[in-house]
Amino acid sequence: MPANVRPGMFQHEMIRLLDRSETFREQCTRIAATRYLRVVFGVARSVPDGSRAQTSIERFQAGAVVALVTLKFAEDYIELIPHELEHVIEQIEHVRLADEAARQQAWRSRTGAYETRRAMAVGLRVRQEVTATTTAVTHTVPALRPPEQRE
Ligand SMILES: [Zn+2]
Repeated sequence: MPANVRPGMFQHEMIRLLDRSETFREQCTRIAATRYLRVVFGVARSVPDGSRAQTSIERFQAGAVVALVTLKFAEDYIELIPHELEHVIEQIEHVRLADEAARQQAWRSRTGAYETRRAMAVGLRVRQEVTATTTAVTHTVPALRPPEQRE
């Protein structure tokens, strides 16, 4: 886990992601290498605009950047954690979301928040990686048979 990520209540999910997703590990390496950045995860009962998650970026004069990631309670954290982290990486890469929107790689919600194809793709890819590993484990470990039933 990068030292500059505060997982909040999502520590368990993040350890699982680190264990099972190469894509998530790459994201963490990228974030850990960005010294001026801090990522703080939180949870909320609801997120504006009916979304499942939201990330807001605060830039400070001294150059520090704090990303506040809020995930809606009881949503698919395994997809949303990497999805929102990708939005953070977009910001540290200075991706211009208006340009992305012009190229149809991003679009805005009614409240003005941007969604990007890139973040959606990463969230889905990580979830596939986690599911694939889980399936592989399931296939290599024989299931316990229930006790025989007699009529
Ligand atoms: Zn998004």
